[in-house]
Amino acid sequence: MVDTLIQSKGFHLASKCRCCTLPSSESADHLFISSDLAISIWSWLRNLFKCRNRLYNLQDLLKFWIDKSSSASQVGVMKLLAFNIGLWEIWRIRCSATYGAEQSITLPHQKFFIFNSLRIINLRTTSFAPHEEASDSYLVLLSDLNIMLKPPKIHRPSFISWCPAPNGVTVNLARSRNKATVIIRNSKGGFILAKLLSLVVNSSLHFLSSTINAVISPVHSSDLILSQIQ
Ligand SMILES: [Zn+2]
Repeated sequence: MVDTLIQSKGFHLASKCRCCTLPSSESADHLFISSDLAISIWSWLRNLFKCRNRLYNLQDLLKFWIDKSSSASQVGVMKLLAFNIGLWEIWRIRCSATYGAEQSITLPHQKFFIFNSLRIINLRTTSFAPHEEASDSYLVLLSDLNIMLKPPKIHRPSFISWCPAPNGVTVNLARSRNKATVIIRNSKGGFILAKLLSLVVNSSLHFLSSTINAVISPVHSSDLILSQIQ
């Protein structure tokens, strides 16, 4: 708990941060954003992602590390991990200065910190498959960091097979998450109707009953007989 939070609970406490050369009152904003410790850690991590602008407040910090980091992209996930590493390192160093023997911060060596952060990011993204292509600037960044580009996950189309019914019509059904496609064919395989359905149900049983309800009305309105659903 930072000092200003302890004070807000009614405890009398003379606050003196341990995260700066010239100590000031310790608040969460000070510790994580404007302290000497935070300035060093964030600037090292920002440099890693080629951001040259200093981030002066919480809003800027969250905008760069969270809002602009898509969890569908490789670099986006790397930035989210880097942000967590930054927060953790600031808190870890602050606690070891507060409760440890030295009573002052010891910054890690910059090269060691960057090496270790990249190692963690690499380990944590080993099995990650992005859902979007990397932009040109991200390709350059990954190459500069010597991190292998991960190819985006490909959504392969599914194919619907058709087996004829002796009479009446057949409904072929394919589902992907909450979307379903139905194709209605006659007994000779002739196309009658195709429909895309958006379903708000999660269970397979509800999905099936919703789909049957959705196809029964067009079948009946065309004076057809539904023989089977595949
Ligand atoms: Zn400080």
